[in-house]
Amino acid sequence: MSKPSKREDDETEPLKDSYERRIDYLRISITDKCNLKCLYCMPSKGLKPFKDSEILTDEEIVRFVRIARRHGLRKVRITGGEPLVRKDILKLVSSIKKAGIDDLSITTNGIMLSKRAEELKDAGLDRVNISLDSLNAERYGNITNGGDIESVWDSIKEAERTGLVPVKINMVPIRGINDDEIASFASLTIDNNYHVRFIELMPAARNGIWRREKCVTSNEIMEIISKIGEVEIFSFRGKGPSRNYRIKGALGVIGIISPISEHFCGYCNRLRLTADGNIRPCLFSGIRIDVKTPMRRGASDEEIEALYLHAVRIKPERHLLNEDLRAAGLIDTMSKIGG
Ligand code: SAM
Ligand code: SF4
Repeated sequence: MSKPSKREDDETEPLKDSYERRIDYLRISITDKCNLKCLYCMPSKGLKPFKDSEILTDEEIVRFVRIARRHGLRKVRITGGEPLVRKDILKLVSSIKKAGIDDLSITTNGIMLSKRAEELKDAGLDRVNISLDSLNAERYGNITNGGDIESVWDSIKEAERTGLVPVKINMVPIRGINDDEIASFASLTIDNNYHVRFIELMPAARNGIWRREKCVTSNEIMEIISKIGEVEIFSFRGKGPSRNYRIKGALGVIGIISPISEHFCGYCNRLRLTADGNIRPCLFSGIRIDVKTPMRRGASDEEIEALYLHAVRIKPERHLLNEDLRAAGLIDTMSKIGG
């Protein structure tokens, strides 16, 4: 029997940017709409959403992924806004996976996931990150402006059951709001194979709560975790900016992502595609490369490819947030760019 033929682009190596970083990861924001208003992400009055016509269509997103795939793109995370509010998410997941993506994940607030986990898995989704910033129902409701914590736990359990694993739980500690729960979150990893990821609070121009002193640094987080038990290095910035640890004997993993107190830019392997069709090579830089307008004007694949190559080439070496907080003004809100 003849061997199945290999896709001609199976062997493509990821592109390297000007600083020798391998770019094999794309975060795609598929909507800026959200069913919550987390206090560190959106203003309490909400935001005027993009018009439907401003948002990339399924076909445009998949076309971009296919083109990037030819240059070694292997990993895609779908985000938002809340990705599960987008209609036809299953079709989109399935088309992105079929474009040849090895590792396809979603970041979601978990409010709507439990009912869709199984069909998302069947459509080709590999993993989920679920955001959860408090273990206390009332506090969770306050942080998210009305979210129901039970729905999130149902989603975590359903994600585990359907094999969208390892389930990663994103937690943003904010001083004076939920930083007293860092130890409880870390302890969840002892008996559960969860990856709990602590993300330092980042400035976003319009969330209104950013103050540097509200950000709980990775050193502070480490100090708290070390009191729970012996902490071992699990993997240290293997393929991205997270530093991963395990409490000795625990089933799960603890990740710390510290964009503010340390530079993780040397390990950055990603580009972002915003819901309205701009490539953002760095979250904290004003560089935007519009791919939607050329696509809608009938650009060829070669022209879109050239824009992708350009975005990789001009990816900044690092963000300047620690030297120049005006860079924060470049983040409108995470929900618009896709956190
Ligand atoms: N709605 C989905 C969710 O909440 O998981 C996906 C989009 S949300 C913008 C993606 C991630 O960004 C979430 O884990 C959220 O906690 C994080 N995020 C939003 N604003 C942030 C900020 N100012 N600092 C740090 N992380 C933030
Ligand atoms: Fe919505 Fe996610 Fe932003 Fe919360 S963090 S408001 S769930 S986009």
